[in-house]
Amino acid sequence: MANQDDQFKKVIAHAKEYGYIFQSSEIYDGLSAVYDYGQNGAELKKNIREYWWKAMVQLHDNIVGIDAAIFMHPTTWKASGHVDAFNDPLIDNKDSKKRYRADVLVEDYVAKIEAKIDKEVAKAEKRFGDSFDKIQFLATNPRVLGYQEQCDTILKRLGKSLEKEDLADVKALIEELGIADPETGSKNWTDVKQFNLMFGTKLGATADTAMDLYLRPETAQGIFVNFLNVQKTGRMKIPFGIAQTGKAFRNEIVARQFIFRQREFEQMEMQFFVRPGEQKEWYEKWKETRIKWHKSLGLGEDLYRFHDHEKLAHYADMAADIEFKFPFGFKELEGIHSRTDFDLGNHEKFSNKKLQYFDPELNKSYVPYVIETSIGLDRMFLAVLSTALVEEALENGSTRTVLKIPAVLAPTKAAVLPLVKKDGLPEVAQKIVDDLKWDYNVTYDEKDAVGRRYRRQDAVGTPFCITVDHQTLEDNTVTIRHRDTMEQRRVAIDDLSSMIKKEVDIKTWLLKSL
Ligand code: ATP
Repeated sequence: MANQDDQFKKVIAHAKEYGYIFQSSEIYDGLSAVYDYGQNGAELKKNIREYWWKAMVQLHDNIVGIDAAIFMHPTTWKASGHVDAFNDPLIDNKDSKKRYRADVLVEDYVAKIEAKIDKEVAKAEKRFGDSFDKIQFLATNPRVLGYQEQCDTILKRLGKSLEKEDLADVKALIEELGIADPETGSKNWTDVKQFNLMFGTKLGATADTAMDLYLRPETAQGIFVNFLNVQKTGRMKIPFGIAQTGKAFRNEIVARQFIFRQREFEQMEMQFFVRPGEQKEWYEKWKETRIKWHKSLGLGEDLYRFHDHEKLAHYADMAADIEFKFPFGFKELEGIHSRTDFDLGNHEKFSNKKLQYFDPELNKSYVPYVIETSIGLDRMFLAVLSTALVEEALENGSTRTVLKIPAVLAPTKAAVLPLVKKDGLPEVAQKIVDDLKWDYNVTYDEKDAVGRRYRRQDAVGTPFCITVDHQTLEDNTVTIRHRDTMEQRRVAIDDLSSMIKKEVDIKTWLLKSL
């Protein structure tokens, strides 16, 4: 645990030091759970967004993208169920006055038991060596089975109580498990209460004519209210999807863990409209498609797992999360939800407008069912950044800090470095920058010894360093150094563009997801 905390602290410090993420309005001591993306962060975020958009919109001929407004008519949120049901159960500790999400306290308790299972596995792995069969061990080891049963029982009870809105039982569960305030150890808890997560604001100039609005807590509703607009103007035939990326706002009770849980964040969502009755098949298909997209980035196969929901949101009939192994453990990165006809059906009721599709093959109209894929851009950013940051021991005994961001996502693809600041080398280097910058971000750096410049580019995550030396003046070749392998090769300047393009091209990467 201590190691994980240390690693996480390093990620946060590194993100600031290298222009990825700053605390919002830092000169005024910041704003809790709100962050700004710096010069490198903005690029990484844009590249992740593009990686998603290309995969979802450009490569699917039956998916189109929109950009709906953040402000929506307030009735939207009555129809969507957010006014009544977008709550989190909160609990206060009477001694420390700290506020927690009751469900998260229980889930963290379960995560500790799961960590014990992992420990047993690690021990057995060591003992049995190559002959170790993890699946069999998990299915038969009595201690592991005991832990697993404990986890299942607790989560089942939590799920049931939350579904029945039995908040007294959630408190009882916390007390029975002896859960203490993680910061102070106190077990002196208040009752559990519901808390609505939407931010309210006002539209209009004078107090008496102003209209109460909400900042959207999800982008999905902008898609639902535009369902017919897009279907008609795009002549879309079911099954088809509408995608969008954009800001969402939630007044999170416990906003910890850096950009993992923010009050203002960005979502990348896609709603896929299908025939009623075909949702199961599409739900499975989208689960598979999305996990392949994640794995195409090569962050590590064992960093992902599916988690099927015990407690379903008010709109869903099936739901699963893709969880990612963040520095603080496995947590939700993306949700895949079968939303039935809940949203469109309710918008029909509240707006008195028909939101149906005429299916020429079936010769009838119906409200389509919906499969949603919903991923937090900031969480994806954290997944990439936290996995990428490594400290490597080098052969000469020193260490280097390197940000192994997948080349396709790296903010800057190459740095061009003249070996010395004279003899015409800077001019040649600058010319290379001017050629390459039409295709991707390139940077020029002439300060300090070249070894230090390599380290700087490693730490900021630049996949390639191109060094111009005296030989360049004779034969138009340069050395190109690869960030991850540190391997250096001599290549012709004319070949640089195509060499780098091959490694950073979105097509090369996305092909792995098919
Ligand atoms: P959690 O259980 O972690 O609060 P959620 O189940 O409420 O998440 P969804 O409503 O399914 O999340 O939202 C879809 C995605 O939006 C999530 O998978 C996550 O990546 C992202 N997301 C949700 N809330 C936040 C937040 N406060 N900060 C950053 N990203 C978020």
